[in-house]
Amino acid sequence: MAKVYYENDADIDLIRSKKVAIIGYGSQGHAHALNLKDSGVDVVVGLRAGSSSWEKAEAAGLQVAEVADAVAQGDVVMILVPDQHQRSVYAEQIAPNLKPEAALFFAHGFNIRYGYIKPDTTHDICMVAPKGPGHKVRESYVDGQGIPAIVAVEQDASGQAWPLALSYAKAIGATRAGAIETTFTEETETDLFGEQAVLCGGVSKLIQYGFETLTEAGYQPEIAYFEVLHEMKLIVDLIWEGGITKQRWSISDTAEYGDYVSGPRVIGEQVKASMKDVLNDIQDGTFARRFIEDQDNGGQEFKALRAEGEAHPIEATGKKLRAQFGWSKADSDYVDGSAAR
Ligand code: NDP
Ligand code: MG
Repeated sequence: MAKVYYENDADIDLIRSKKVAIIGYGSQGHAHALNLKDSGVDVVVGLRAGSSSWEKAEAAGLQVAEVADAVAQGDVVMILVPDQHQRSVYAEQIAPNLKPEAALFFAHGFNIRYGYIKPDTTHDICMVAPKGPGHKVRESYVDGQGIPAIVAVEQDASGQAWPLALSYAKAIGATRAGAIETTFTEETETDLFGEQAVLCGGVSKLIQYGFETLTEAGYQPEIAYFEVLHEMKLIVDLIWEGGITKQRWSISDTAEYGDYVSGPRVIGEQVKASMKDVLNDIQDGTFARRFIEDQDNGGQEFKALRAEGEAHPIEATGKKLRAQFGWSKADSDYVDGSAAR
């Protein structure tokens, strides 16, 4: 049985007694920085000079400094820049400025698991990885709830790494939902697998094939969009609330019977075999190498694949339909249809 920590298992005063440097102010960075601040923690956000996020962070009432400067102040340094850039940011700006006893925190184990970052033995190495996108981590904290997180300690130099990790998890709201104990290896491998095989890769491809199948058979793209994409959220909400059983309870008997007889035809044994191949590539480092090599090469493959995805006909259909929805847009960094980055 996995060990899960809740509010009473963590002492928030521990993190309140430290200066926390949050490096990066993106999806996770803004959420961690603001949640910590609202939990009474002394936070400094570390950004590169001229960062477009600088003003945003200051406007939110946060202290902001250049990465090197923020790191030098931090008793705890949480690295929240994209995984592919962590290695160089660490080597150039973090390692040379890190207090010898500072604790290093991550929200994903990638760089430690695959050896791209190798901190000195004097540092605690901890992970607090919310199991949700940053904007949800912030939103749900403000609502008095929390996104569950997983916590791990790779190196316990101080003897206090676990209480410190749990204290941090509490301050971002995670122990309200549950902080699950894991290792850097388990987190990294399961996280990559989940997003590749099921959550992102699997679902995206499933939606695209569904849309193609219907439109190639002559059905209207708008109908196909609602059937295979829009409704996905409603179905997933039910699964999230009460498992697959609740979803099947809510849908019609016709839909439920179709689920049983056709689901295994679409997602057959060969899909599971492919999933095992994907997992192998994650475990033996093949995926990590391919990703980092491409990133070092300017992300050429990555950009080509992104452009190909954005050009899929379902995107244009969806953009038109969503523009007509009668409800207002949630405040977001993402501008629908422009893929502004
Ligand atoms: P983002 O892409 O949102 O991070 C962007 C931030 O990183 C920006 O503030 C950006 O600076 C800064 N940044 C990028 N490159 C550099 C650089 N070279 N030097 C200094 N700052 C830089 O990252 P995420 O929040 O998505 O991911 C952060 C970590 O959290 C990763 O380890 C990821 O795996 C993990 N994670 C992410 C989740 C998510 O929801 N996205 C979920 C769980 C874990 P600027 O403002 O100047 O552009
Ligand atoms: Mg993930």
